[in-house]
Amino acid sequence: MITQGVQVTGRCSVCGGTTTCDVGQFSDDGTLCWGTEGRCADCSNGWCEQDSGLVTPENIRQALLQEHGAARLRLSGDLLSLAPVLQALRSARELSLYEARVQATQLAKTGLIGTHVEMEILAVHLRRRSIVVNVETEA
Ligand SMILES: [Zn+2]
Repeated sequence: MITQGVQVTGRCSVCGGTTTCDVGQFSDDGTLCWGTEGRCADCSNGWCEQDSGLVTPENIRQALLQEHGAARLRLSGDLLSLAPVLQALRSARELSLYEARVQATQLAKTGLIGTHVEMEILAVHLRRRSIVVNVETEA
């Protein structure tokens, strides 16, 4: 299971106390999911939210990137054709052909950047089409 999480602290909207919140992304059979679960140390305020989809709330992404750094997805080896890459990107991210072309070109040149879970899921889709890629963690 591909997963990454981080604990963030905040201020309680009910009593003004300190909240701790576990946020994270994970892969559920190749589908990108995210979750947030928090509670207040000083009152009974608590919440739990989880969803899946192509877009993770930006505050969760930023918390993960800040704590763990970004991941870079790279092609390893030569690519004979961009066509399978385009297909993989489009099926993984529901991109238009134009968007897929931009991302495929970027992938071939410098690699794609995102959170660890986002890049690992993309890697799974690409490997399904026999495209050899690896995921590096940015320092
Ligand atoms: Zn509270």
